[in-house]
Formats: sequence, C-alpha cells, structure tokens
Amino acid sequence: MIILVLNCGSSSIKYQVLDMKSDNEYSLLSKGLVERIGEAVGSITHKVPGKADCVEERPIADHSAGIDAVLSLLIDPEKGVLKSLADIEAVGHRTVHAGEFFSESTLATDETISKVERCNDLAPIHNPANIIGINAARALMPNVPQVMVFDTAFHQTIPDYAYIYALPYEYYRKYGVRRYGFHGSSHRFVSQKACDALDLDINKAKIITCHLGNGSSVTAVCNGKSVDTSMGLTPLEGLTMGTRCGNVDPGALIYIMQKEGLDAEGLNKVVNKKSGLLGISETSSDNRDIDTASAAGNRLATLAHDKLCYDIKKCIGSYMAAMNGADVIVMTGGIGENSRTVRRDALRDLEGIGIELDFDLNENIDGDNWIISKPTSKVKVIVCCTNEELVIARDTMRIALAK
Ligand code: ADP
Repeated sequence: MIILVLNCGSSSIKYQVLDMKSDNEYSLLSKGLVERIGEAVGSITHKVPGKADCVEERPIADHSAGIDAVLSLLIDPEKGVLKSLADIEAVGHRTVHAGEFFSESTLATDETISKVERCNDLAPIHNPANIIGINAARALMPNVPQVMVFDTAFHQTIPDYAYIYALPYEYYRKYGVRRYGFHGSSHRFVSQKACDALDLDINKAKIITCHLGNGSSVTAVCNGKSVDTSMGLTPLEGLTMGTRCGNVDPGALIYIMQKEGLDAEGLNKVVNKKSGLLGISETSSDNRDIDTASAAGNRLATLAHDKLCYDIKKCIGSYMAAMNGADVIVMTGGIGENSRTVRRDALRDLEGIGIELDFDLNENIDGDNWIISKPTSKVKVIVCCTNEELVIARDTMRIALAK
C-alpha cells in the first residue's frame, strides 16, 4: 500500500512516501520538505533514494499550493516516484492536539476534524496548520482515505491524579487545562521496539522512554500504556529543551513579567524561544554546539549540559517511583540516539536504583537497538532510533484497510 505521510507546520510541510508491504516490511520511495510557505520565495527539497536531491526555490502561496507542488513532484516523469496520483492509496497526517477526544488515530471526516478544530486553542501554532493540510489533501485527493495520527493520543491513558494540575478545578472543566503530553507516536514506537529487541512482553514491562531532541519528553510506559509524561498542557513543561524552559516555578515567571514589564505574548517568547539550552548557555540551542563549547571550557555551556542531564536523571527517578521500578530505559531522539555525553551524565551514578551504565559501550556504540547497560544492571538501558513517519504510515494503513 502506497502511503503519503504529511506533517504540516505553520510554514512548512514535511512529507514521506512509503510503500508498505506490512508493518515491518516497507520501503521509502521519497521524502522532502517544503519551507517558507507564504513568504516571497519558498523552497522545496525533494529526495529520492539513489538520486540526486532536487531543490526548487519559488513562491508557495499556502499549504494547498505546497501539497499541490509535492504531488506534482511525486508524479514528475524525471524526479517522481509514482506513475499517477491514483497510486497513493492513503494519506496519514501528523496531528498535534486531540485533547480528550481521541486516544487512537482516526479517519479524517468532517466530524472528526471539527473535534480537532476545537483543540486549536491548546496548540495554536500546530493544530490550525495540521487542519489546513488535512483539508487541502482531502480537496486534492477526495477519494483517498485520510488518517489523523495524534501526538497526544498515546497519553490518554494517564490517570487523573497524574494529569490534573493543582489549579482551581474549574479551569479544567471550562478550558481543559490538564497535562496532555506530546511525542506520543515516538514513545509508543520505541517502547514496543525496545521490547522486541529485548524479547520482553510489553504488556508486562515497565519502560521509561526518553525522547530527547529540540523538544524533549520522558514517558513512563507501564504494561504498554502511558501512565505519566513530562510535557503538559503544552510542550513547554518538563525537561530543559533547545529553546524551551521546561519546569520553572510559576512564581518566577510572574516575577519576571513584573520586573521586565512583559505581557503574555512577551513571556511566551521568552519561555518558548529564548530559554532552555540557548537561554542558559547564551551560546546555542543545539546540543552539538553545547558539547563543543563545553569541551572548550565555556562555563555556561557546561551548566546548560549539566542542567539537562540532571533533569533527565530526576525524571527517570520519579517515574521509577511512579511505576515501582523499571525494566528498561530507552534513549531516543537526536540527542538520545547520538549524544554520548548526555547519556553518560544523565545515567551515571544511578546504581542505587538499579541502573548501571556501561561507559565503554556508551562511548563506542553508534547505531540502533544497542544495549548500553552492564549485564548486571537490573534496569536495561537501550538506544533505539525513533521513526514517527513509520508509526503514521502503519496506523494509516491499518485504518484505511479497515475502512
Ligand atoms: P527535533 O526535536 O527537532 O526532531 P531531533 O530529534 O533531530 O530534533 O534532535 C535535535 C538535537 O539532537 C539537537 O540538539 C542536536 O544537536 C542533537 N544531536 C544530533 N546529532 C547529535 C550528535 N551526534 N551528538 C550530539 N547531539 C546531537
């Protein structure tokens, strides 16, 4: 089954075309990125394995024009990978926020889309763009099933005492203010992948998945279900991230607003764009730059690194308490998969709670499904590469076939 996976951001569209023979047998036909939608000059980077990348610069008025351009490239006699658009049998859409409406991926219909629209206030940057993309794809391919795969869905199993904030309950009742969590497709994918690699039954396992990238979140997965996660109502809560602040005393935010004369929009910018690794280091939001600067003796870069690693360590400890132990810790995302220094410093000195990192393995490995704990470690630590597009393609195939 040929599936187009679309991830529409506020001014960008990421896409992949996968030929799915089954959940585990598939090939990537093409992938690419449309950027700077709505600006004077946009760009499209289109990649086909085995061929030179194709980069086009031209104005792309809106998401519909962007998807149209992607479809044209996919059937282009030279650059394309499909004979005609009729080859696309289903489209899967990464969709950020489904509030409490959906705990699983679902077919995009007028009714299901209107529910997602009702969550727009909870994800004002992502959801409207996702919905524009879904509607544009439906208009361009009216007979092709379209499936929405939500970042929040996997976390709908979190119990009420873990998702409620200690604010007046009426804000939950009136506005849905609670923890929702994000990166759900990734946490679901790597928890299963780690169990497959370690020959464990996910229905009997306690797993802590650490998705560490520009945005980072940690999830406690007990018997295959998310029972707690570090991101909250929005993707701001939890760990120190590239430019997001993670956990901060709300009183500190009120104090800064007063001192700096900031309004809500001003504060929003500080906590989303100027904080995290960038905010502390005053150097970069990129973990590789932080590593380089720290190795060169930059004190604030070292502080940013230490803060991130301490956040991860504390979160792992708290989820071990929440689940009364853990069998596996999974490291994934750009940092989790690649940063030996973050893995080393987040996972060191945890023998007291059964985690024994093998420093040599952590230093020397580079790859997928690698165990980096010592054989004696009660809690196994494994590095697994995530693949959110594959999760979307799998769910899309399942739902389209059941239609
Ligand atoms: P996103 O959340 O945007 O999907 P990624 O999962 O790609 O981001 O992660 C990006 C982060 O991963 C960046 O901070 C980057 O520095 C870090 N990273 C990628 N490769 C390495 C590496 N080899 N060593 C250390 N950090 C890395």
